[in-house]
Amino acid sequence: TKDSKPKPEWIKIKLTTGDNYKEIKNMMRSKTLHTVCEEARCPNIYECWANRTATFMILGDICTRACRFCAVNTGLPTELDLQEPERVAEAAEQMNLQHCVVTSVARDDLKDGGAMIFAETVKAIRKRLPLCSVEVLIPDFMGDEESLRIVMNAKPDILNHNIETVERLSDRVRAKAKYERSLELLRRAKAMQPSIPTKSSIMLGVGEEWDEILGAMDDLRAADCDIMTIGQYLQPTQKHLDVEKYYTPEEFAKLKEEGLSRGFSHVESGPLVRSSYHAHEQVRSAERR
Ligand code: SF4
Ligand code: SF4
Repeated sequence: TKDSKPKPEWIKIKLTTGDNYKEIKNMMRSKTLHTVCEEARCPNIYECWANRTATFMILGDICTRACRFCAVNTGLPTELDLQEPERVAEAAEQMNLQHCVVTSVARDDLKDGGAMIFAETVKAIRKRLPLCSVEVLIPDFMGDEESLRIVMNAKPDILNHNIETVERLSDRVRAKAKYERSLELLRRAKAMQPSIPTKSSIMLGVGEEWDEILGAMDDLRAADCDIMTIGQYLQPTQKHLDVEKYYTPEEFAKLKEEGLSRGFSHVESGPLVRSSYHAHEQVRSAERR
């Protein structure tokens, strides 16, 4: 394997494990719940959990796809737990979350891709925590419109679906997903429920050019996407895609400006930004529109 580029200073994280963090961590263990915060080794876990924001992964922790940037295990999933929505809601209540993100692996083995469980989870959290905003970060459901409708009818506060990278690199970086299909999903979600903000994310550092990033922004805006997040790709293990470039904080700031000038209501752009980073602030900014 070739030497990986040394991580620049701004990528290194302060490890501040406060009480909130430990308390939540212990609870997650006891309930065998999966969080993306842990599975994806998210660098923001201390800050987010302390701020009462967390991302739950539903529908198990084995994915039917194998994207080259992702640390989630690939295989044939076995789990379909109809009690899961209630357990997630109970955990969200115990954590007293202010913003709860619900996401899943890609369940291409299920007819609705898990859409019903998504919808039930949104409803269950609403019931226990009426003030908590709920964001769903959904897979593409293989482009199935009915599955998307099931999720939209549960009225999440934010509908999030990631394009992950620029058009040219999409097939190489993501397994089975299609750039155009993801844009179509965002377009349809907005058409189904115009008042629900839509959101998408790309990670930088997998070989994209600056102009291609701007092109992805234009494509998202053309699909009426409201919120965009941009972060640095970090290689989860040596088997995963190499990091081609570390963007500087200045470059991230410039991209934020580029995004805002294109009409996104909110752009979160920074080296450690992840899809759900500062998500509670995005709900507020979307409401102001
Ligand atoms: Fe979890 Fe998202 Fe925060 Fe990362 S950014 S710790 S995945 S809530
Ligand atoms: Fe990871 Fe890709 Fe599966 Fe999503 S679809 S969990 S990014 S492997």
